[in-house]
Amino acid sequence: MRHFVSFAALASTFVVSFASAADSPDPLTRPLPGRPEWTRAYAPIRIYGNTYYVGSEGISALLVDTGAGLVLLDVGMPQFAPQVEANIGKLGFKLADVKYVLNSHAHVDHAGGIAAIVRDSGATAIASPSGTKALREGHVVADDPQAAEVANAVFPAAARVREVADGEAVRLGNTAITAHFTPGHTPGSTTWTWESCENGKCLNIVYSDSLTAISSDGFHFLADATHGDLSASFRKSIHTVATLPCDILVSTHPDASGADARLVKLATQREPNPMVDAQACSRFAAEYEKMLDARIAKEKAAQGKKS
Ligand SMILES: [Zn+2]
Repeated sequence: MRHFVSFAALASTFVVSFASAADSPDPLTRPLPGRPEWTRAYAPIRIYGNTYYVGSEGISALLVDTGAGLVLLDVGMPQFAPQVEANIGKLGFKLADVKYVLNSHAHVDHAGGIAAIVRDSGATAIASPSGTKALREGHVVADDPQAAEVANAVFPAAARVREVADGEAVRLGNTAITAHFTPGHTPGSTTWTWESCENGKCLNIVYSDSLTAISSDGFHFLADATHGDLSASFRKSIHTVATLPCDILVSTHPDASGADARLVKLATQREPNPMVDAQACSRFAAEYEKMLDARIAKEKAAQGKKS
């Protein structure tokens, strides 16, 4: 009987904790809708040197061990933040050592979990001025191409966020992580670069933001009544990514640049390191410039019909 009672107690504890996870009374990790792979668990893995992958199957989160604290780049969905925290622990690191959380762009699938990590670790989030506004407000900025997608517009607001300038490096320990503003997918989009070394060999790591020219209905990348031409700065961003020193590319959605396949290979092969691909940035940029070209051609055709 005693055993039965303690088992029942155990079972009810389990049920309660399971139910509370599902209901998520924590407002910062409450599940928001998204694609299944965005929250599918993925084994954390060392990419190269002091750079690790701690994200989900479909959304990147990178961890850099600077020797004097950790830097996290993106988190993913709000409900995936506890998984990122667990992944940091699985690699043998302490969550409290995360000093900065750098953001690529302030959409729920990359920035939704930042508020929880900032609270749980004591870290400060860092983003472009436009990204900072969105992270502080927990809402995409009004001039975001997807601002009208109400379902994705809102996410938990982060308590500590500071701005970075274009070209500025965030320095911690032995690492300097440089912000390159790459507006287009969002007005505050930022690509981050740093050097990681392994056995005395240092490589250029690029964490590229999304270069996807997509928007809500009615938004134009070409000039319209509400804003000037955004296509030229978008194209400049694509060229920035194409010409960065780039040995290893990870994109915000790993499958957007083939980083998903490279990561899978890395799990079984360290030498030669399958993440190393000096052409990855230029290939990625070329692919998304074609998408931008097609989008602009479509907008021009629609304008032609109206006039
Ligand atoms: Zn996005």
